[in-house]
Amino acid sequence: MIEVILPDGSSLELEENSTLEDTAYKIGTGLGDATIAGKINGELVAKEATVSDGDEVEIVTSQSEEYIDVLRHSTAHIFAQALKRLYPGAKLTIGPWTDKGFYYDIEIDGGLEKEDLNEIEDEMQEIVDEDLEIERTALSRKEAEKFYEKNEYKLEILNEEASGDDKISFYKQKEFKDLCKGPHVSSTGEVEAFKLLEIAGAYWRGDEENKMLTRVYGTAFSSEKDLEEFLEQREEAEKRDHRKIGQNMDLFSIPDHSPGCVHFHPNGMSIRRELEDFIRVKNDKLGYTEVKTPELNKAKLWKKTGHYKAFKEKGEMFAWEQDESEWGLKPMNCANHAHIFNSQKRSYKDLPIKLSEFGTCYRNEQSGELSGLLRVRGFTQDDGHGFIRPDQIEEEVIKTLEIIMETTKAFDFDLNIVLETKPEKAQGPDELWEDAEESLKKALESIDMEYSINDGEGAFYGPKIGVEAEDAIGRKWQIGTVQLDFVIPRNFGLTYVGEDNEEHVPVMVHRALLGSLERFMGVMIEHFAGNFPTWLAPEQIRILPVSDENLKYAEQIKEQLSDFRVEIEDRSWTVGKKIQAAHDDKTPYMIIVGDNEEQASEISVRDRFENEGRGFTTEEFIDHIEDEVKEKRLSPDFLK
Ligand SMILES: [Zn+2]
Ligand SMILES: [Zn+2]
Repeated sequence: MIEVILPDGSSLELEENSTLEDTAYKIGTGLGDATIAGKINGELVAKEATVSDGDEVEIVTSQSEEYIDVLRHSTAHIFAQALKRLYPGAKLTIGPWTDKGFYYDIEIDGGLEKEDLNEIEDEMQEIVDEDLEIERTALSRKEAEKFYEKNEYKLEILNEEASGDDKISFYKQKEFKDLCKGPHVSSTGEVEAFKLLEIAGAYWRGDEENKMLTRVYGTAFSSEKDLEEFLEQREEAEKRDHRKIGQNMDLFSIPDHSPGCVHFHPNGMSIRRELEDFIRVKNDKLGYTEVKTPELNKAKLWKKTGHYKAFKEKGEMFAWEQDESEWGLKPMNCANHAHIFNSQKRSYKDLPIKLSEFGTCYRNEQSGELSGLLRVRGFTQDDGHGFIRPDQIEEEVIKTLEIIMETTKAFDFDLNIVLETKPEKAQGPDELWEDAEESLKKALESIDMEYSINDGEGAFYGPKIGVEAEDAIGRKWQIGTVQLDFVIPRNFGLTYVGEDNEEHVPVMVHRALLGSLERFMGVMIEHFAGNFPTWLAPEQIRILPVSDENLKYAEQIKEQLSDFRVEIEDRSWTVGKKIQAAHDDKTPYMIIVGDNEEQASEISVRDRFENEGRGFTTEEFIDHIEDEVKEKRLSPDFLK
């Protein structure tokens, strides 16, 4: 007999070699009948999987959270079946579920066009209507190899992932069979609502050396209503796509010659400068002093902190041999700041010492992972490191959190705070960990922030508070963080002389207010859909002369507005067309000047919400917009 552990912590005795389904029936006939799949020690597996002594076991039914993954993966099989019916020569490779749906990578002569997806969807609907039973079956290795003799991809998977098995798990629905560990729903008819979304290219195994395959993205839901909602949200997200807005507003580019590295154009740089200035003020307030450290260093620097091992082994670091040394581009700024701390003898009275930097780092993200500004190889963090005494932790964390809240408020995000605590493989003294976690909790409570706890999710070197921003369409993004570190100071041999005249090791605080500026800008562009608050807008005001006769007056107004970013629309267009263009460019304010305005020495003002007002003096407008920018108000409100 064996014993497994159920979600409520109780244990259940079972015969040896029992499956998940047996487990469910042992609990109750109803549950047994409803079983679709299960989880063994957290991994989603087929209901036929055998459980072992001591396993943590969970049953998945159509009511479980995991059901959607099973449904989506089953839809991937339906896609594959439809594809093979229409394109018998296509080769299937992998078709996993994702958090938003599924994809299937295929090799198909001539690729697929968007219109082809409609035809495939129709065939998929056929298969759903046929309500085919999805059966698990087993093939011997020989049979499986024969079945895939013309598909080198599946043969590769067979050799790697199913090596040694004499019974290889397949799922079968009518004429279609696919190598798969499962789990799946019991019939194709269970798929209520699905949609194929997109075609992309993907290298086999994500490796650029390999063949480029066709990737088809799709999704499925357990109701039409959920699918509709998803598609609406997706459409809204597409409209806000920062890559599209970035191009339309001429903010940045990421050309082929620098994959993953951003070129900020004048408009994008103007936004970035505003962000940097904003952060500098906050850093001053927090008592940080700014430093600049080199991107290029010898690898021995990161061998000292332990980062080398972590980054280099995962292939995430740009590093190379030259002049008989190993060099690298910094993947983070911590080590350079530790060096500055260590460049002088420090006393307990000097602490905290706080160094900030707009530090540009490089990490070798896989090409398939790159995504506009959101996932890049070269990025600049609004980084900072505090070197503090253990008794200063609480105060420092409170201050930092307050400033992070203040900073992020300017962007109108809803915030979620997460505390990540001691993981299993933690390093550093236990006592310090306990005190630090206690201090972080106290800090969170003292600023009255609601937070959730991710137990055991902290880094090995210390606990962390993460700040998540929820954007205008409900997506969540990790931005600022406050992280304590007990390990780098030890690895680096950092010390200060205490009141007792002995040497002590400081605690290091890693913190970022907004995180990577590239990523933050990507998130912010989508959050505002390009309609930046006036303080951030690359062009804050556009002056529209009614005719060329009014150009001179427009110049005079521009001079009066020299503290702002102002352009004059000097193309000989109708006023209507000029307004439309300024509107398309998302300019917060338009100033319209014609003969009437000129004679009265006044201006007419229009904002991007299409509010319009006449008879203002330029001074009135300046008074208002000065305050609006200084207070970082979220949208133009002169005409409210
Ligand atoms: Zn499958
Ligand atoms: Zn750091």
